[in-house]
Amino acid sequence: MATDFVLRGGIAVDADTDGQALDVLVKDGRIAARLLPGTPVAEGTPEISAHGLHVFPGLIDAHVHFGFGEKITEYETETVYAAQGGFTTVLGYFLNNEDYTEVYRREQEYARTRAYVDYGFHFSVANEMHVRELSEYVNKYGVTSFKYFMNFKGEEGRYLGLDGTDDGYFYDLLSEAARLGDIKVVCHTENIEIVNRIRRRLQAEGRDTLKDWSASKPAFTESESCVRAMYFAEHLGARIYIPHLSTRLALDEVRTWRERYEHVHVETCPHYLTHDEDSDIGSLGKANPPFRSKDDVEAMWEGLRDGSIDVVASDHVPRKKATKERPLWLASQGFPGTATILPVLLSEGYHKGRLGLARIADLLTRGPARIFNLDPKKGSLAVGADADLTLVDLERSRVVRAEELGSYSDYSLYDGWDLKGWPVRTIVRGETVMQDGKMVGKPGYGRYLSRKVNAK
Ligand SMILES: [Zn+2]
Repeated sequence: MATDFVLRGGIAVDADTDGQALDVLVKDGRIAARLLPGTPVAEGTPEISAHGLHVFPGLIDAHVHFGFGEKITEYETETVYAAQGGFTTVLGYFLNNEDYTEVYRREQEYARTRAYVDYGFHFSVANEMHVRELSEYVNKYGVTSFKYFMNFKGEEGRYLGLDGTDDGYFYDLLSEAARLGDIKVVCHTENIEIVNRIRRRLQAEGRDTLKDWSASKPAFTESESCVRAMYFAEHLGARIYIPHLSTRLALDEVRTWRERYEHVHVETCPHYLTHDEDSDIGSLGKANPPFRSKDDVEAMWEGLRDGSIDVVASDHVPRKKATKERPLWLASQGFPGTATILPVLLSEGYHKGRLGLARIADLLTRGPARIFNLDPKKGSLAVGADADLTLVDLERSRVVRAEELGSYSDYSLYDGWDLKGWPVRTIVRGETVMQDGKMVGKPGYGRYLSRKVNAK
């Protein structure tokens, strides 16, 4: 492993270009020069070959969950999983009722010696103390994005051990975020009051299929909540990010609203691109939001294509398969996902003519980097950026086997799927962390990303 090298023969892909022959000179962990192919460099500079490969800026998974698997060692296992999937940065969510000062200290202690790739945190805000301390979290810990669960209102929140919030709380939170500047409030959009009623009815009727799970959370409960979040945000001048968007109804609302208020960003997840409510996988497919209709799946692809969706992220939850193998209403929600994001987008998107490479790069690099204050260090191949590089073999076919990818979890939604287009080398700040499926990096190499509010 050498920090200084020249990457030769690759086709560079970024949010602006589907491919350009480019050599890249890396010095001190940063991109030092973009060179015409074959341009001479200082004698003795090691060469890394990227012949036949596409070179993406290091991929960013802006939505992973820490704390659901093995709380301490998951910083190792889940960053291995990320590197196996070509990801050089992960942003992880925490949900706590306690003061984040202690959470930050504890999690950093776990992560610092274990992470293989760079990482940052999102804090979920759930009580009055969190709003009071928001500016401290921004200034001391470099956290510039905060999650708010619109579905954890009142009773539902208290059931989860949180204080239980209401619209007044949401109003104050957005006001404070707007006051602090370029802070993103990540809004889980779901009208839980409607969902709870429908769920009780379905349960009373003994219904318990994956399709019933979906029926308990109709599209309206997502879109109505999105509209409220956007209306609040516009009124208060706050910037919001809607994670895991899943329905055409909600996406159409976002398109309309963005014409009047631009500070609304949208993410979807790979599973909303590949699975629907008729997918025959039982409780294994339980997620929130649920799998939707085939038309919603099509709508997500359209949103990726036309730019109304800004980010694809995994919503990675590294639990064991056993937690899914329960009756539907008791099964755990979510799945592991980081390592398969790129192969899914390449196989189902690029190779099927649904999505160009530049769009894929935008969704996995520049999009999340800009939204989450990681640029200009992350998310591009510009001179001066961190030398985070993901080398991809577009033609490589590989059958997904979760056990080869390194997560604490022991399954993948895509187990047995033959996907085409895989990362073959993951380089973080000039150091190769993964090569041909083997981990060659070191735990503890990954750095914490303290983010700053962009002056805009
Ligand atoms: Zn999530």
